[in-house]
Amino acid sequence: MAAALKFSGPVLPDGEAREVYVVEGRVTYEPVAGAERAVDGWIVPGLVDAHCHLGLGEAGGVSDEETEQQAIEDRDGGTLLIRDCGSPVDTRWVQEREDLPRLIRAGRHIARTRRYLRNYADEVEPDGLTAAVAEQAQRGDGWVKLVGDWISRDDGDLAPSFPAADFAAAITAAHDHGAKVTAHCFGRDVLTGLLEAGIDCIEHGTGLAEEHLGLMAERGVALVPTVMQTERFPEYAWSGRERFPAYSRTITDLFVHRRATLMAAYDAGVPLYAGSDNGGVSRHGNLAGEVIGLAAMGLPREYALGAASWRAREWLGWNAGLTEGAPADFVVYDADPLADLSVLLRPACVVLRGRVVA
Ligand SMILES: [Zn+2]
Repeated sequence: MAAALKFSGPVLPDGEAREVYVVEGRVTYEPVAGAERAVDGWIVPGLVDAHCHLGLGEAGGVSDEETEQQAIEDRDGGTLLIRDCGSPVDTRWVQEREDLPRLIRAGRHIARTRRYLRNYADEVEPDGLTAAVAEQAQRGDGWVKLVGDWISRDDGDLAPSFPAADFAAAITAAHDHGAKVTAHCFGRDVLTGLLEAGIDCIEHGTGLAEEHLGLMAERGVALVPTVMQTERFPEYAWSGRERFPAYSRTITDLFVHRRATLMAAYDAGVPLYAGSDNGGVSRHGNLAGEVIGLAAMGLPREYALGAASWRAREWLGWNAGLTEGAPADFVVYDADPLADLSVLLRPACVVLRGRVVA
């Protein structure tokens, strides 16, 4: 049996100073004689990246070696639970690894033919959408990821990927298979149909308007705003300015209003969670950057950190906090992250399944 470990310091979210013992992968507050003193500091329930892509590189799927490296970078940044938001490769093996973050997969992205990044998605036409959703629902761990909107080269602008009726049938099919549905949504037009059809979560959500927020709050539909991703909208607008001027204007307009949109969602009571959107073009291990970004948009620091820790854990069916007997997944910092979120950039110690992994 591995030796018991002892950590001490303020335990977030309430910040009460405690001595935390780790025995056989679990937390206990019952003193354990002979426990080895590990690290003292501010103890935060394992971070959650609610929108991340393992096994995805710029050009599509990557090797298992590269996927492993991505998962290690996320873990070393304090992310101990990942909700994968779409990957072209089978990452089930990650779940067998005690040293890698816990993983909830959504199967592969589902997009309209030639209406998403190349080599990322299962690309289908409207008549194939429901079958594709059923297939991914069976491949994933309770989530399906749709590409809700993308540039339509015919229209020269952002447009819903599928007609609303097809989206609605697909959402029903996913629910029938026991899976929740989330969708990539940059623009406004796709949102009403998805929300009325009972979608469970919206990714990015820069097009959300007042009319959507009440419904989301009432039904507990989550929003993962990915502010590091939406920070890039001016680049997308710039690269599309000559061939797709309407798209360029739309994306600029969404960017200009993104802070007001996010804060309106928060004020309406929509549950927000932190997603780095790492994978693809962006490096892994930077969930801290997203929490800092959420706070910079105006969210209270405690809300922003909870969106990447205790509230997100609860949303995804894990122990919110480090209660007696909870799995010992936590991160220790040598200063209070609620006083200064940049502390999150430098974890002092990462404990996963009761073992010090970083
Ligand atoms: Zn993404």
